[in-house]
Amino acid sequence: MSTQILETVTEEQIQDLVTRQKAYFNTNATLSAEFRIEQLKKMKSLLLKHEDNMHQAIFNDFSKSKYENQLVEFYPLIDEIDVAIKNVKKWMKHKNVKTNLLNFPGKSYIVPEPLGVSLVIGAWNLPYNLSLTPLVGSMAAGNTTILKPSELPVETSAIMAKIINENFDPNYMRVVEGGIPETTALLNQRFDKIFFTGSPTVGKIVNRAAAENLTNVTLELGGKNPSIFTKKSDLKMSVKRMIWARFVNSGQFCITADYALVHKDIKDEFLKLAVKEIEKNNFSVENNNFVQIINERNFDRVVNLIDKDKVYYGGTYDREERIINPTILTNVTLEDAVMQEEIFGPVLPVIEFETLDEAFEIIKHFEKPLAAYLFSNSNSEKERFLNEIPFGNGAINDCVMQISNPNIPFGGVGNSGLGRYHGKYSFECFSNFKGVLDKPTSLETNLKYYGYSEKTMKVMKALS
Ligand code: NAD
Repeated sequence: MSTQILETVTEEQIQDLVTRQKAYFNTNATLSAEFRIEQLKKMKSLLLKHEDNMHQAIFNDFSKSKYENQLVEFYPLIDEIDVAIKNVKKWMKHKNVKTNLLNFPGKSYIVPEPLGVSLVIGAWNLPYNLSLTPLVGSMAAGNTTILKPSELPVETSAIMAKIINENFDPNYMRVVEGGIPETTALLNQRFDKIFFTGSPTVGKIVNRAAAENLTNVTLELGGKNPSIFTKKSDLKMSVKRMIWARFVNSGQFCITADYALVHKDIKDEFLKLAVKEIEKNNFSVENNNFVQIINERNFDRVVNLIDKDKVYYGGTYDREERIINPTILTNVTLEDAVMQEEIFGPVLPVIEFETLDEAFEIIKHFEKPLAAYLFSNSNSEKERFLNEIPFGNGAINDCVMQISNPNIPFGGVGNSGLGRYHGKYSFECFSNFKGVLDKPTSLETNLKYYGYSEKTMKVMKALS
């Protein structure tokens, strides 16, 4: 990992930056569709221009290959920009809604407006995507933005700061690099919107800071995401899809399947297929499909979750290289260390179940997950999964791919998050929707004015 030093910034500089962004926002410069589209186009062309350097930076940080970066981060990000450029005019339009008779003659509509000055705080595991996708939403909605990427992948943080800070007006958009002190200084300011991606623990700190100013907040957090494999699943295809999703980015993926619940009658076959898939994928840095654990703290944390007595496959690692080989644990119980926290690494615990009720009970033992997956071709099992299991986003017969469709809102529920984004939901996430009744002055029913009677009340009730 790089030892590059982050550009430091003082609390006074942060305060000054927020004040200047507020003043700039109040000039109305960011309001027009033309301005928003121009800035989005500029962002897209800068990212494309620096694409190779961005791939190199993330490779230097944790050996993430160009191809994985393109697949999981870069292309989805460019897609988000394209969707915003194409649709922002439509999203900005006033939306007419019905007017009731009580307000006749009149019209009613909803007017989207930017919230003002946004703060976006990113996580490290998909550092470009999780920092810049919300930023795109903030831009499309017409806000000014301060972006604070995660400090852990130092070079990706630095390159985002370079691209943005050298090319955009700081009064409109600025990257502030740093860790806890800088984030704390930012959270001491009054923003109009805070968008945070990270752990539930830090999410609570952010939410408390937002509450101080009643700031609109979105929290994209994590949790233990279940994947269920029933006897009605197409097991071969299901395992193939899930194993790729489970180990991509070395399992450092908020919506990966944290653990597998497998029907006892298909467990042996599941395990055999899982090993076959892992071996077929041949995860290695040389094959461009295996990334390092982000730092030693996380490496030690994940290794400590591996109970040697329960290793079915893998269980090997290299601390110097910060590599943990794909690992499957069996005979896992809810009391095991690996089931006490989100794994966020390449370790898959497998738990067997006998009835779907039993599987659902296990899922409900945990906080509401960010994502959940069912592998089954039974309509009744799908129905039960959709109706009975709370989760933020998910898939049936696939894993993580829901994130690649910008028409699907992305977000958590309860302990896994608050609010949603992607595509038009990003625009909505960074907007306020003003509800407006617009009346002509030519006609008045007079029913509401003093001089109430039973009769006028009856008419009012009938009209409302
Ligand atoms: P984190 O909570 O440690 O850090 C996230 C951000 O908060 C970073 O920018 C960091 O600098 C800042 N931060 C850390 N400690 C802070 C403190 N005490 N006060 C103020 N700011 C602080 O999370 P992480 O390790 O970067 O990411 C891992 C977690 O994020 C996992 O729980 C994962 O599930 C979750 N995550 C969620 C999503 C999602 O989209 N829902 C995506 C990626 C990761």
